[in-house]
Amino acid sequence: MTNLKCSVYSCTHHKDDHCCKPNIKVEGPNAMTHTETSCASYAPKGAENAVGTSTPNPQLEIVCSAKECVYNTASRCRANHVAINTMNNGAGCSTFTKK
Ligand code: SF4
Repeated sequence: MTNLKCSVYSCTHHKDDHCCKPNIKVEGPNAMTHTETSCASYAPKGAENAVGTSTPNPQLEIVCSAKECVYNTASRCRANHVAINTMNNGAGCSTFTKK
């Protein structure tokens, strides 16, 4: 499980600098920098709250396609702490570190 901090206030799943989803998906199969990653679980406020809960999860699972990141093992994030921030009109992973 990864400790997740999120500062994307425009996301419907965001609460208290955490995410209310039980797990998230980060995309970036060709990412070489953090700005080329994106949180595929991002949904603009007002979008339907898919998980139907607003309980922040300080720890969660991250499925990730950014295979060039040092924390990526078999499409799972192994970082202890991950920061998701506003990026490219959505959200992305600031913790991405090129191998
Ligand atoms: S730290 Fe790396 S492996 Fe973890 S979510 Fe971010 S890009 Fe994916």
